[in-house]
Amino acid sequence: MQIEKNKVVTFHYRVNETGRETLEDSHDGDPLVYLHGHDSMIPGVEEALTGRQAGDHLEVTVPPEKGYGVRNDDAVQRISKSHVLHASKGARFEPGMMIQVNTPYGPRSVIVLKVGMTTLDVDANHPLAGRTLEFAIDVVDVRDASEEEIAHGHAHGAGGHEH
Ligand code: ZN
Repeated sequence: MQIEKNKVVTFHYRVNETGRETLEDSHDGDPLVYLHGHDSMIPGVEEALTGRQAGDHLEVTVPPEKGYGVRNDDAVQRISKSHVLHASKGARFEPGMMIQVNTPYGPRSVIVLKVGMTTLDVDANHPLAGRTLEFAIDVVDVRDASEEEIAHGHAHGAGGHEH
């Protein structure tokens, strides 16, 4: 069965930035499961998987535009510590920490760059924005999605949404 829109795809992957060591390797744990054709996978990986089938191995280089996006300098901002979600009183912040903040677009994860007395400089870019990524992918399984999965726009069951 070939991968196309409305197939549920299970795959293992290893990813690294070009010339760098492995960032993530799913082979040690559970594979990734997603519904093809519903924008739930980065475009570069989804395109490479189209037309493939279970047992296929592929290697794909994904530029930022087809990965986690290009870096946006406007996403670096100074915010009040009072906008941090789920922080206990007197919580200590450190550069490099990932925190959740309230934004006009809802809660978002950002990375702390600098800590002030009452403010934080944060970066809302995805940590992998602006990076070229190399994926090595092993397709484990391809199956038809159920009508419910297509209506929801995501895969259900092991590795998918549980609800
Ligand atoms: Zn669902």
